[in-house]
Amino acid sequence: MNWINNVVRPKIRSLLTTRREPPDNFWLKCGGCGQMSDRKALEENRFVFPCCGFHARMTAEHRLKIVFDGGEYTTVAVPPVAQDPLKFRDGRRYTDRLKDAKAKTELEDAVLIGEGKLEGQPVVVAAQDFEFMAGSLGMAAGEAVITGMMRAVEKKVPFILFAASGGARMQEGILSLMQMPRTTIAVQRLRSAGLPYIVVLTDPTTGGVTASYAMLGDIHIAEPGALICFAGPRVIQQTIREQLPEGFQRAEYLLAHGMIDMVVHRHQLTQTLATLLHILMSGATAAKNAKTDKSVTARRYMNGSSVDGKLLENLARTGDVVEPEAVEGAERFDPARIEARKPAREAESASPRTQPNKDSPRST
Ligand SMILES: [Zn+2]
Repeated sequence: MNWINNVVRPKIRSLLTTRREPPDNFWLKCGGCGQMSDRKALEENRFVFPCCGFHARMTAEHRLKIVFDGGEYTTVAVPPVAQDPLKFRDGRRYTDRLKDAKAKTELEDAVLIGEGKLEGQPVVVAAQDFEFMAGSLGMAAGEAVITGMMRAVEKKVPFILFAASGGARMQEGILSLMQMPRTTIAVQRLRSAGLPYIVVLTDPTTGGVTASYAMLGDIHIAEPGALICFAGPRVIQQTIREQLPEGFQRAEYLLAHGMIDMVVHRHQLTQTLATLLHILMSGATAAKNAKTDKSVTARRYMNGSSVDGKLLENLARTGDVVEPEAVEGAERFDPARIEARKPAREAESASPRTQPNKDSPRST
Protein backbone atom coordinates (compact mmCIF):
# COMPACT_ATOMS: atom_id res chain seq x y z
CA MET A 1 0.00 0.00 0.00
CA ASN A 2 3.04 2.25 0.05
CA TRP A 3 2.43 3.26 -3.48
CA ILE A 4 -1.02 4.64 -2.65
CA ASN A 5 0.27 6.52 0.39
CA ASN A 6 3.36 7.94 -1.24
CA VAL A 7 2.19 8.78 -4.74
CA VAL A 8 -1.57 8.74 -5.20
CA ARG A 9 -2.60 10.57 -2.02
CA PRO A 10 -0.25 13.53 -2.46
CA LYS A 11 -1.33 13.82 -6.11
CA ILE A 12 -5.02 13.96 -5.16
CA ARG A 13 -4.28 16.42 -2.37
CA SER A 14 -2.36 18.73 -4.68
CA LEU A 15 -5.24 18.66 -7.16
CA LEU A 16 -7.82 19.57 -4.52
CA THR A 17 -5.90 22.24 -2.64
CA THR A 18 -4.31 25.14 -4.45
CA ARG A 19 -1.46 26.22 -2.26
CA ARG A 20 -1.09 29.98 -2.21
CA GLU A 21 2.32 31.47 -1.54
CA PRO A 22 2.24 34.78 0.32
CA PRO A 23 3.15 37.63 -2.07
CA ASP A 24 6.45 39.47 -1.77
CA ASN A 25 6.57 42.04 1.02
CA PHE A 26 3.74 40.26 2.78
CA TRP A 27 5.73 39.95 5.99
CA LEU A 28 7.69 42.82 7.44
CA LYS A 29 10.41 42.33 10.01
CA CYS A 30 10.35 44.53 13.11
CA GLY A 31 13.43 46.74 13.35
CA GLY A 32 13.18 46.71 17.12
CA CYS A 33 12.86 43.06 18.13
CA GLY A 34 12.91 41.09 14.87
CA GLN A 35 9.37 39.66 15.02
CA MET A 36 7.39 39.36 11.81
CA SER A 37 4.10 41.15 11.20
CA ASP A 38 1.92 41.13 8.12
CA ARG A 39 1.79 44.26 6.05
CA LYS A 40 -1.99 44.69 6.06
CA ALA A 41 -2.28 44.64 9.86
CA LEU A 42 0.69 46.99 10.10
CA GLU A 43 -0.85 49.44 7.65
CA GLU A 44 -3.97 49.58 9.82
CA ASN A 45 -1.70 50.19 12.82
CA ARG A 46 0.02 53.10 11.02
CA PHE A 47 3.17 50.98 10.56
CA VAL A 48 3.80 50.75 14.29
CA PHE A 49 4.83 47.19 15.15
CA PRO A 50 2.52 45.72 17.83
CA CYS A 51 5.34 43.63 19.34
CA CYS A 52 7.44 46.45 20.75
CA GLY A 53 6.06 49.71 19.36
CA PHE A 54 8.81 50.10 16.76
CA HIS A 55 7.92 52.89 14.30
CA ALA A 56 8.62 51.67 10.75
CA ARG A 57 9.23 54.09 7.87
CA MET A 58 6.17 55.23 5.92
CA THR A 59 5.65 56.34 2.36
CA ALA A 60 4.73 59.99 1.68
CA GLU A 61 1.27 58.93 0.55
CA HIS A 62 0.53 57.05 3.80
CA ARG A 63 1.76 60.05 5.75
CA LEU A 64 -0.64 62.41 4.05
CA LYS A 65 -3.48 59.91 4.41
CA ILE A 66 -3.16 59.67 8.19
CA VAL A 67 -2.80 63.40 8.76
CA PHE A 68 -5.79 64.69 6.76
CA ASP A 69 -9.42 64.28 7.82
CA GLY A 70 -10.81 61.11 6.26
CA GLY A 71 -7.54 60.67 4.36
CA GLU A 72 -8.74 63.24 1.82
CA TYR A 73 -6.41 65.80 0.31
CA THR A 74 -5.53 67.41 -3.00
CA THR A 75 -1.99 67.18 -4.29
CA VAL A 76 -0.27 70.50 -4.93
CA ALA A 77 1.48 70.52 -8.31
CA VAL A 78 5.19 71.36 -8.20
CA PRO A 79 6.78 73.28 -11.12
CA PRO A 80 9.14 71.04 -13.11
CA VAL A 81 12.90 71.45 -12.70
CA ALA A 82 15.85 70.62 -14.97
CA GLN A 83 16.62 66.88 -14.95
CA ASP A 84 20.23 65.93 -14.47
CA PRO A 85 21.88 69.24 -15.48
CA LEU A 86 25.33 67.93 -14.49
CA LYS A 87 24.97 64.80 -16.70
CA PHE A 88 26.05 62.86 -13.63
CA ARG A 89 27.14 59.29 -13.78
CA ASP A 90 28.61 57.08 -11.05
CA GLY A 91 27.99 53.33 -11.36
CA ARG A 92 24.89 54.18 -13.35
CA ARG A 93 23.41 57.21 -15.00
CA TYR A 94 21.56 59.58 -12.67
CA THR A 95 18.65 59.73 -15.14
CA ASP A 96 18.31 55.92 -14.88
CA ARG A 97 18.32 56.07 -11.09
CA LEU A 98 15.62 58.77 -11.23
CA LYS A 99 13.53 56.68 -13.60
CA ASP A 100 13.75 53.66 -11.28
CA ALA A 101 12.84 55.70 -8.21
CA LYS A 102 9.83 57.21 -9.98
CA ALA A 103 8.60 53.79 -11.06
CA LYS A 104 9.13 52.29 -7.59
CA THR A 105 7.40 55.05 -5.60
CA GLU A 106 4.98 56.50 -8.18
CA LEU A 107 6.21 59.93 -7.11
CA GLU A 108 7.73 62.75 -9.15
CA ASP A 109 10.44 63.26 -6.52
CA ALA A 110 11.15 62.80 -2.81
CA VAL A 111 8.63 65.36 -1.52
CA LEU A 112 4.84 65.10 -1.85
CA ILE A 113 2.68 68.15 -1.06
CA GLY A 114 -0.97 67.94 -0.10
CA GLU A 115 -3.56 70.41 1.06
CA GLY A 116 -6.70 69.65 2.97
CA LYS A 117 -8.11 69.78 6.47
CA LEU A 118 -6.73 68.56 9.79
CA GLU A 119 -9.58 68.40 12.34
CA GLY A 120 -11.38 71.04 10.32
CA GLN A 121 -8.35 73.37 10.17
CA PRO A 122 -7.09 73.96 6.59
CA VAL A 123 -3.37 73.11 6.26
CA VAL A 124 -0.66 72.45 3.70
CA VAL A 125 1.44 69.36 4.46
CA ALA A 126 4.71 68.18 2.90
CA ALA A 127 5.84 64.59 3.32
CA GLN A 128 9.29 63.36 2.40
CA ASP A 129 9.55 59.79 1.13
CA PHE A 130 12.68 57.89 2.14
CA GLU A 131 11.99 55.30 -0.57
CA PHE A 132 12.71 57.88 -3.26
CA MET A 133 16.52 57.95 -3.42
CA ALA A 134 16.73 58.07 0.41
CA GLY A 135 14.50 61.16 0.53
CA SER A 136 17.44 63.19 -0.70
CA LEU A 137 17.15 66.93 -1.17
CA GLY A 138 17.69 67.85 -4.80
CA MET A 139 16.30 70.61 -6.99
CA ALA A 140 12.87 68.98 -7.32
CA ALA A 141 12.53 68.29 -3.58
CA GLY A 142 13.66 71.84 -2.76
CA GLU A 143 11.18 73.24 -5.26
CA ALA A 144 8.41 71.11 -3.71
CA VAL A 145 9.13 72.33 -0.16
CA ILE A 146 9.18 75.95 -1.37
CA THR A 147 5.98 75.48 -3.39
CA GLY A 148 4.26 74.02 -0.31
CA MET A 149 5.38 76.88 1.93
CA MET A 150 4.36 79.52 -0.62
CA ARG A 151 1.00 77.81 -0.99
CA ALA A 152 0.51 78.06 2.80
CA VAL A 153 1.41 81.77 2.69
CA GLU A 154 -0.97 82.36 -0.21
CA LYS A 155 -3.85 80.56 1.57
CA LYS A 156 -2.87 81.95 5.02
CA VAL A 157 -2.82 78.45 6.54
CA PRO A 158 -0.24 76.59 8.69
CA PHE A 159 2.47 74.41 7.14
CA ILE A 160 3.43 70.97 8.44
CA LEU A 161 6.49 69.06 7.27
CA PHE A 162 7.23 65.36 7.74
CA ALA A 163 10.99 65.15 7.31
CA ALA A 164 12.79 61.94 6.30
CA SER A 165 16.05 62.23 4.43
CA GLY A 166 19.53 60.93 3.97
CA GLY A 167 20.69 64.47 3.16
CA ALA A 168 21.57 66.34 -0.02
CA ARG A 169 21.38 64.58 -3.40
CA MET A 170 24.95 63.85 -4.37
CA GLN A 171 24.13 63.56 -8.07
CA GLU A 172 23.12 67.24 -8.22
CA GLY A 173 26.24 68.57 -6.49
CA ILE A 174 26.17 72.28 -5.67
CA LEU A 175 22.65 72.59 -7.11
CA SER A 176 21.33 70.39 -4.30
CA LEU A 177 23.25 72.39 -1.67
CA MET A 178 21.63 75.56 -3.04
CA GLN A 179 18.28 74.21 -1.85
CA MET A 180 19.36 74.81 1.75
CA PRO A 181 19.36 78.65 1.55
CA ARG A 182 16.38 78.60 -0.85
CA THR A 183 14.17 76.65 1.55
CA THR A 184 15.42 78.76 4.47
CA ILE A 185 14.16 81.90 2.72
CA ALA A 186 10.78 80.21 2.19
CA VAL A 187 10.62 79.45 5.95
CA GLN A 188 11.28 83.16 6.54
CA ARG A 189 8.30 84.00 4.31
CA LEU A 190 6.08 81.77 6.47
CA ARG A 191 7.38 83.52 9.56
CA SER A 192 6.80 87.01 8.10
CA ALA A 193 3.22 85.96 7.30
CA GLY A 194 2.80 84.90 10.95
CA LEU A 195 1.93 81.33 10.06
CA PRO A 196 2.87 78.29 12.15
CA TYR A 197 5.48 75.91 10.75
CA ILE A 198 5.52 72.55 12.51
CA VAL A 199 8.17 69.94 11.74
CA VAL A 200 7.71 66.23 12.44
CA LEU A 201 11.11 64.56 12.39
CA THR A 202 10.82 60.93 11.36
CA ASP A 203 13.43 58.20 11.03
CA PRO A 204 15.93 59.16 9.65
CA THR A 205 16.36 62.92 9.22
CA THR A 206 19.98 63.70 8.46
CA GLY A 207 22.47 65.83 6.53
CA GLY A 208 21.52 68.94 4.60
CA VAL A 209 17.83 68.59 5.48
CA THR A 210 18.63 68.76 9.23
CA ALA A 211 20.96 71.66 8.42
CA SER A 212 18.17 73.67 6.78
CA TYR A 213 14.36 73.63 6.77
CA ALA A 214 13.86 70.59 9.06
CA MET A 215 15.35 72.43 12.05
CA LEU A 216 13.71 75.82 11.45
CA GLY A 217 10.18 75.03 12.60
CA ASP A 218 8.31 76.78 15.40
CA ILE A 219 7.78 73.40 17.04
CA HIS A 220 9.81 70.24 16.48
CA ILE A 221 8.11 66.93 17.13
CA ALA A 222 9.96 63.64 16.68
CA GLU A 223 8.70 60.09 16.40
CA PRO A 224 10.01 57.61 19.01
CA GLY A 225 13.40 56.16 18.17
CA ALA A 226 13.95 58.38 15.12
CA LEU A 227 17.56 59.07 14.15
CA ILE A 228 18.02 62.84 13.80
CA CYS A 229 21.46 64.19 13.08
CA PHE A 230 23.75 65.99 10.65
CA ALA A 231 26.59 63.46 10.52
CA GLY A 232 25.58 59.95 11.61
CA PRO A 233 26.83 58.17 14.73
CA ARG A 234 29.15 55.88 12.74
CA VAL A 235 30.96 58.84 11.17
CA ILE A 236 31.30 60.59 14.53
CA GLN A 237 32.55 57.44 16.25
CA GLN A 238 35.20 56.91 13.59
CA THR A 239 36.29 60.56 13.80
CA ILE A 240 36.56 61.04 17.56
CA ARG A 241 37.38 57.38 18.30
CA GLU A 242 35.23 57.27 21.41
CA GLN A 243 32.34 55.06 22.44
CA LEU A 244 29.12 57.04 21.98
CA PRO A 245 26.39 56.90 24.64
CA GLU A 246 23.43 54.57 24.12
CA GLY A 247 20.63 56.04 22.05
CA PHE A 248 22.93 58.78 20.75
CA GLN A 249 21.16 61.08 18.25
CA ARG A 250 17.86 59.25 18.74
CA ALA A 251 14.67 61.26 19.39
CA GLU A 252 14.59 60.59 23.16
CA TYR A 253 18.27 61.53 23.59
CA LEU A 254 17.75 64.78 21.66
CA LEU A 255 14.68 65.63 23.75
CA ALA A 256 16.69 65.16 26.97
CA HIS A 257 19.39 67.46 25.56
CA GLY A 258 16.97 70.17 24.48
CA MET A 259 17.27 69.86 20.71
CA ILE A 260 13.61 69.03 20.04
CA ASP A 261 10.34 69.89 21.75
CA MET A 262 8.41 66.62 21.94
CA VAL A 263 8.56 62.91 21.17
CA VAL A 264 5.08 61.75 20.19
CA HIS A 265 3.81 58.24 19.45
CA ARG A 266 2.47 57.97 15.89
CA HIS A 267 -1.01 57.10 17.14
CA GLN A 268 -1.16 60.41 19.03
CA LEU A 269 0.51 62.45 16.31
CA THR A 270 -2.52 63.68 14.37
CA GLN A 271 -4.27 64.72 17.59
CA THR A 272 -1.18 66.53 18.87
CA LEU A 273 -0.78 68.40 15.57
CA ALA A 274 -4.46 69.39 15.62
CA THR A 275 -4.21 70.70 19.19
CA LEU A 276 -1.04 72.66 18.45
CA LEU A 277 -2.55 74.22 15.33
CA HIS A 278 -5.69 75.08 17.27
CA ILE A 279 -3.64 76.91 19.90
CA LEU A 280 -1.41 78.69 17.40
CA MET A 281 -4.20 79.69 15.01
CA SER A 282 -6.57 80.86 17.74
CA GLY A 283 -3.91 83.47 18.45
CA ALA A 284 -4.05 84.56 14.81
CA THR A 285 -7.80 85.15 15.12
CA ALA A 286 -7.19 87.08 18.33
CA ALA A 287 -4.54 89.20 16.61
CA LYS A 288 -7.08 90.11 13.93
CA ASN A 289 -9.36 91.49 16.65
CA ALA A 290 -6.45 93.30 18.30
CA LYS A 291 -7.67 96.69 17.10
CA THR A 292 -10.79 96.46 19.19
CA ASP A 293 -9.28 94.48 22.06
CA LYS A 294 -6.22 96.24 23.50
CA SER A 295 -5.42 93.40 25.91
CA VAL A 296 -4.46 91.12 23.02
CA THR A 297 -1.48 93.25 22.01
CA ALA A 298 -0.21 93.16 25.59
CA ARG A 299 0.07 89.36 25.50
CA ARG A 300 3.10 87.42 24.35
CA TYR A 301 3.27 86.43 20.73
CA MET A 302 4.98 83.61 18.95
CA ASN A 303 5.11 83.59 15.18
CA GLY A 304 2.36 86.19 14.97
CA SER A 305 0.06 84.31 17.32
CA SER A 306 -0.47 84.78 21.00
CA VAL A 307 0.58 81.67 22.88
CA ASP A 308 -0.10 80.52 26.38
CA GLY A 309 3.13 78.90 27.54
CA LYS A 310 1.37 76.92 30.29
CA LEU A 311 -1.05 75.44 27.78
CA LEU A 312 1.79 74.26 25.54
CA GLU A 313 3.61 72.75 28.49
CA ASN A 314 0.52 70.90 29.71
CA LEU A 315 -0.05 69.64 26.20
CA ALA A 316 3.47 68.27 26.06
CA ARG A 317 2.85 66.28 29.25
CA THR A 318 -0.31 64.43 28.32
CA GLY A 319 -0.80 60.92 26.93
CA ASP A 320 1.99 59.27 25.03
CA VAL A 321 4.23 62.32 24.91
CA VAL A 322 7.66 61.46 26.28
CA GLU A 323 8.91 63.48 29.25
CA PRO A 324 12.37 65.02 29.02
CA GLU A 325 14.85 63.19 31.24
CA ALA A 326 17.43 64.88 33.40
CA VAL A 327 20.86 65.11 31.80
CA GLU A 328 23.88 63.82 33.74
CA GLY A 329 26.06 66.54 35.28
CA ALA A 330 29.08 65.83 33.10
CA GLU A 331 27.02 65.89 29.90
CA ARG A 332 25.33 69.19 30.65
CA PHE A 333 26.39 72.35 28.87
CA ASP A 334 27.98 74.44 31.60
CA PRO A 335 28.86 78.08 30.84
CA ALA A 336 31.12 78.21 33.93
CA ARG A 337 33.28 75.42 32.52
CA ILE A 338 33.58 77.28 29.22
CA GLU A 339 34.58 80.45 31.11
CA ALA A 340 37.26 78.53 32.99
CA ARG A 341 38.83 77.45 29.72
CA LYS A 342 38.89 81.01 28.34
CA PRO A 343 42.10 82.44 29.93
CA ALA A 344 44.17 79.68 28.40
CA ARG A 345 42.74 80.43 24.96
CA GLU A 346 43.31 84.20 25.34
CA ALA A 347 46.93 83.63 26.30
CA GLU A 348 47.30 81.52 23.22
CA SER A 349 45.88 84.21 20.95
CA ALA A 350 48.13 86.85 22.57
CA SER A 351 51.27 84.93 21.65
CA PRO A 352 53.13 86.44 18.69
CA ARG A 353 52.08 85.14 15.34
CA THR A 354 53.66 85.45 11.99
CA GLN A 355 52.04 88.42 10.32
CA PRO A 356 51.01 87.83 6.74
CA ASN A 357 53.16 89.82 4.37
CA LYS A 358 50.96 92.36 2.62
CA ASP A 359 53.32 92.70 -0.31
CA SER A 360 53.43 89.01 -1.09
CA PRO A 361 51.65 88.19 -4.33
CA ARG A 362 48.35 86.37 -3.91
CA SER A 363 47.79 83.04 -5.48
CA THR A 364 44.19 83.77 -6.43
ZN1 LIG B 1 9.11 44.54 17.62
